[in-house]
Amino acid sequence: MQFRDLKAQYLALKPQIDSAVQSVMDKREFILGKPVDELEEMLAEYTQRKHCITCASGTDALQLSLMAMGVGCGDAVFTSDFTYFASSAAASILGATVVFVDIDSKTFNISPQALELAIEQVIREGILTPKVIIPVDLFGLPAEYSKIIPIAEKYGLKVLEDAAQGFGSSIDKKPACSFGDISATSFFPAKPLGCYGDGGAIFVDDDMLNARLRSLRALGKSPFDKYDNLEIGINSRLDTMQAAILIPKFKALVDFELESVNKIAEYYNQRLCDYVITPYIPCGYISCRAQYTISLADECSRNRVRNALTESKIPSMIYYPKGLHQQKAYENMKLSDELYPNTIHASKTVLSLPIHPYMSEEEVDIISEIIKSNII
Ligand SMILES: *Cc1c(COP(=O)(O)O)cnc(C)c1O
Repeated sequence: MQFRDLKAQYLALKPQIDSAVQSVMDKREFILGKPVDELEEMLAEYTQRKHCITCASGTDALQLSLMAMGVGCGDAVFTSDFTYFASSAAASILGATVVFVDIDSKTFNISPQALELAIEQVIREGILTPKVIIPVDLFGLPAEYSKIIPIAEKYGLKVLEDAAQGFGSSIDKKPACSFGDISATSFFPAKPLGCYGDGGAIFVDDDMLNARLRSLRALGKSPFDKYDNLEIGINSRLDTMQAAILIPKFKALVDFELESVNKIAEYYNQRLCDYVITPYIPCGYISCRAQYTISLADECSRNRVRNALTESKIPSMIYYPKGLHQQKAYENMKLSDELYPNTIHASKTVLSLPIHPYMSEEEVDIISEIIKSNII
């Protein structure tokens, strides 16, 4: 069994993907070819944004967004403590100080209450300038933007949506990648919309930000002359091959994969809801189900279930085994675990199970039976 079966997807979409790749070979416009423009237009329309700017990875999408927002030394950037390292690394590498915020224990997303307290504390201390909030759409569930955006407005911060796991999700029909001032996503192969290498995209409505991001992804070049540089940018573009592969994969995601993966999640819910805590999807929210993450009673129970799955050759993952504040890279910040009780609890009790649009109900049965018989 596969955690995320990319081979099954390739076999299902082989004619479209193969011909897309062949067409790039035939035309040999390997960088910024026509499929890149086509993809950017399709994704902007789908996410209800005015502009989509593709780039070389989700991490770069975050970093470029922060560069366009002018983030640097002396700025405070607020993000969830319970996420992939890229959410904070993109800010740290620009010299900004990351303020980690505890999560809501039901959604695993940044807690709006804890966020507001963290912003107020930074203001009280008077050392850093609160600049940007990076809410993460963890496991595919969009963050609580109806509370986060008013907090950002109240204190004059910008919002950068980290939708690396959220592409295809929505809140009351408003799609992920449309929340806040800028949104960033990833096309890493295992993400909801993945290419066959690294890739990412940025979504904005503002024309000035669009122009600046297009310049920043090409080393800060002028829109009129490649050899005229306006500022210091990075070299981060999505290559034509990946864009060509993403076009049929995007169509499949929208046409049937989102529906299919949600059906699989529903099968899991039916079988497991009396035994473990199944993913919480608030009313009006749709998740693209980037992960199907259950919570067990305690660490011992989680590890027992995981070992039983491993013995039956069923892959499972612990996303994430620790909070960002516990990473060695941030040890000089000397942050106490006591500030992050919900993150600490989640890191000890969560378990992500195999899920993808090509999974069968029988596979869900097998996994659910193993879990049920190993719960104490
Ligand atoms: C995967 C991921 C990223 C980074 O994307 P890459 O394309 O791997 O650079 C950023 N944030 C989150 C939450 C992610 O899951």
